[in-house]
Amino acid sequence: MDSQLKIYNSLSKDKEVFTPLIPGRVGMYVCGPTVYNNVHLGNCRTFVSFDIIYRYLLHLGYKVRYVRNITDVGHLEGDHDTGAEDKLGKMARLEQLEPMEVAQKYTVGFHDMMKIFNTLPPNIEPRATGHIPEQIEMVQTIINNGYGYEANGSVYFDTIKFAESSGMYGKLSGRKIEDLMAESRDNLKKQDEKRHPSDFAIWIKADPEHLMRWNSPWSLGFPGWHLECSAMSTKYLGTQFDIHGGGGDLKFPHHENEVAQNFGACNCNPARTWMHGNMLLLNGKKMSKSDGNSIMPEELFTGNSAHISKGYSPMVIRFFMLQTHYRSTLDLTDEALQAAEKGYRRLMEAYASLQKMTLTGDGQRSEQDGEVAALIKGVKAEMDDDFNTPKALALLFEAVSKINSWKDGHQSMAGLGESTLSALKDLFQTFLFDIFGLKDEAAAGDNHFKTLDGLMQLVIDMRQDARTRKDWPASDKIRDTLKELSIQLKDGKEGTAWTME
Ligand code: AMP
Ligand code: ZN
Repeated sequence: MDSQLKIYNSLSKDKEVFTPLIPGRVGMYVCGPTVYNNVHLGNCRTFVSFDIIYRYLLHLGYKVRYVRNITDVGHLEGDHDTGAEDKLGKMARLEQLEPMEVAQKYTVGFHDMMKIFNTLPPNIEPRATGHIPEQIEMVQTIINNGYGYEANGSVYFDTIKFAESSGMYGKLSGRKIEDLMAESRDNLKKQDEKRHPSDFAIWIKADPEHLMRWNSPWSLGFPGWHLECSAMSTKYLGTQFDIHGGGGDLKFPHHENEVAQNFGACNCNPARTWMHGNMLLLNGKKMSKSDGNSIMPEELFTGNSAHISKGYSPMVIRFFMLQTHYRSTLDLTDEALQAAEKGYRRLMEAYASLQKMTLTGDGQRSEQDGEVAALIKGVKAEMDDDFNTPKALALLFEAVSKINSWKDGHQSMAGLGESTLSALKDLFQTFLFDIFGLKDEAAAGDNHFKTLDGLMQLVIDMRQDARTRKDWPASDKIRDTLKELSIQLKDGKEGTAWTME
């Protein structure tokens, strides 16, 4: 564990050498999904990014306690803190379900999707509704410490008092308290209950039609969205822990308010390192379901979307995500996915070839041995540099070129040491599968897609032959039968692609 891991801390805005609070152990909290509808691919990107971070910490030998919550109450429409409808409550009303049925349905869907993308489960996955007493207790502590006040059954956090005493409010998100104060919130209800426009609700008195509510010393109500993460991270990781993560869109207000609440409750910043993943874009715009600019993972797998020409497998999509650093935006385009598909296959094929390679003869070690050894070191160094997956991958692809030229006989393996070859094999095995979390879809039991694709290429060729022969009944029969099977053919410049509805 003599790693030189450096992590970019959103709070200090600097890359820092990572030193855990307790040697050998890491406490990591990542904000999980709000389970009111199916996860979109943008959400998946954030969870895949943190999965790779988790896997790398495990690889370095840390004993990690990874906590990722499920938000099933308190997240209001438009991320408001009062006056808007609860996202889960709204869905329950629209679908005529119990809010807990909504939460259960989409939690199961979320878990399924996380498995499809081969992410490891967190060690603890607490639900906000399962921690109401802890949240009520935290509100009470914040009031007792003078940072919270009650107004008409709701409780608000006093941001000005906190800003004046700590100088912290706005530090994480880079917002100035004066700007927050000046922001017009006239469009929101219940603003008159607040002492300052920048104050936010930590307990909200429920309107009569509100479905989810609990008894508290202040009212029959429900906790503010930000509170759950403060209460649950404290419960499972302590008042201070190592890493807090989430998507960059959570910096404000969610994480900024979490910091304020933890200070308000115990006078300490909960996390030493704040990590934020960047957004997945679709055609240059943030992927977001509420804006209608989103693609669901299933649509990507089947190719059933106007944005893409064909389907892509989950591991191709995971590989596509790895090609960009977690702090950079990632723009999803059909061309980029096609390139990722080729890259992923090339990597897996090189891995398979490498594992079969043995050294012939035992010549003098040459320059090549040193080059490969440097490559191996380089891959690790890139991951130590704030989990730089694109640069680590670029080095692995340098190794792929070498492997292919050894295989094709363009370059001799002579001069490569036995231990260097075995270290290269280990490197591929460890990075591809344990750290990057890829699976060899072609080699593994998930061969169905490849088989189906092969069969479809045969059908497409047969249809093309029939058309060339002007055998229209045969070509129509193929098209109609495929249609009955919900398979569509799309003729394009590059040939014919197929998609499944
Ligand atoms: P939510 O379900 O809205 O609470 O979001 C779950 C997680 O997905 C949070 O960490 C968000 O920051 C993240 N997220 C939402 N939209 C995107 C996006 N377009 N790209 C990457 N992450 C996102
Ligand atoms: Zn959170």
